[in-house]
Amino acid sequence: MGDIVLVGGGHANLSFIKKHNQDRHEDTSCTLVSADRYQYYSGMFSGFLEGIYSLKQIRIDLQDFCKDHNVRFVCDKADRIDQVNKRVIVSSGQEIPYEVLSVNVGSHVQDDIPGAHDHALSLKPNFHFLEVVERIRHSPRTIIVGGGAAGVELMFSLHAWREKNELNSKELTLLTGGEVFEGEAEFAKQKIRRLFQKKQINLVEHERAEEMTTRFVKTNNGEYEGEAILWLAGPKPPPLIRDLDVKKSEGGFLLVTDRMQSVSDPAIFGAGDCITVQSYPHLPKNGVYAIRQANELYENVNRYLKGETLKTFTPQKRYLAILSTGHREGLLTYGKFSIHGKIPWLVKNRIDGSFMKTLRC
Ligand SMILES: Cc1cc2nc3c(=O)[nH]c(=O)nc-3n(C[C@H](O)[C@H](O)[C@H](O)COP(=O)(O)OP(=O)(O)OC[C@H]3O[C@@H](n4cnc5c(N)ncnc54)[C@H](O)[C@@H]3O)c2cc1C
Repeated sequence: MGDIVLVGGGHANLSFIKKHNQDRHEDTSCTLVSADRYQYYSGMFSGFLEGIYSLKQIRIDLQDFCKDHNVRFVCDKADRIDQVNKRVIVSSGQEIPYEVLSVNVGSHVQDDIPGAHDHALSLKPNFHFLEVVERIRHSPRTIIVGGGAAGVELMFSLHAWREKNELNSKELTLLTGGEVFEGEAEFAKQKIRRLFQKKQINLVEHERAEEMTTRFVKTNNGEYEGEAILWLAGPKPPPLIRDLDVKKSEGGFLLVTDRMQSVSDPAIFGAGDCITVQSYPHLPKNGVYAIRQANELYENVNRYLKGETLKTFTPQKRYLAILSTGHREGLLTYGKFSIHGKIPWLVKNRIDGSFMKTLRC
């Protein structure tokens, strides 16, 4: 059989590598191309920012991981995919031939307002995380733009870290164009608002960011000053996907069937934030679904190579989400149910630790 090339060290591709090694496909070669030596686990970003986890706990060394799982590792950014000649072209100019491709490169952040792309801090790709932590921990005033789970969680963790280090936390602001924690149950939103109040963090809702300079975010209603401004305003497709000559979703993501296969190029499969499943266009882009897509991705890439019928991915309707709110407390939500306190954080800590363990052994 042929060459499998995995582009991006995201959740589904790492799970692919584990299974590929377990099943000992001696007639196929497998190569991982990823832009950095490390893959950071976003579920533990908040704990690292707060000072609970070490660097070793939150990241996977892809070079060692590939070596241990008998996969070739190319530590370089994929710049382009030549679909006609079936090659991945990386920044060094090297061309990597493939018979089938699995793309799992994550997403970038919607930073399309003037100034944001040039001046804002970004966590995408995720190996920028350490630089961002340094900047936001030590900046006297930090603004986070984006009121989703990631922005809220990082704000609470930053606040907790600053309290532990006896730094003033009065100048922290979270800005969102809609409601904080939008789409979640009313109880959860109210709980989050009360926590912002209790911790004396500025929460600005219903103000759309319209422009950004090095130190200011201008909204439709005012202006906010910060030395560090972190942009977490929803996902957009990364350049590699933008430049692919394939059918895309409305937002520009790689459009795949429920078999995780591009609807227009059968040699390209994908999973995680960089894809949209045609039959489930509103599936949230998060780590939960990236991990859930891993099985079908692996099965179907191998079935495709053997000319077999592909397997269907059916997403679960609800999933457990736990957001860290600082000082080892968390907010657990499951559909309309939610609960806040120490136990949710302990559950999250256990789930995240177990997930990382599966990638370590
Ligand atoms: C602060 C924060 C907290 C979050 N917490 C959670 C949570 O608790 N639970 C949850 O479900 N989701 C969470 N998310 C969302 C989650 O991070 C993403 O949805 C998830 O990481 C997407 O996984 P992925 O496998 O698609 O890609 P990623 O995990 O983003 O991995 C993509 C990989 O591709 C590599 N790459 C990118 N471009 C290229 C290229 N051109 N060439 C080669 N390699 C490339 C990157 O280096 C990286 O290794 C959080 C996000 C943030 C920002």
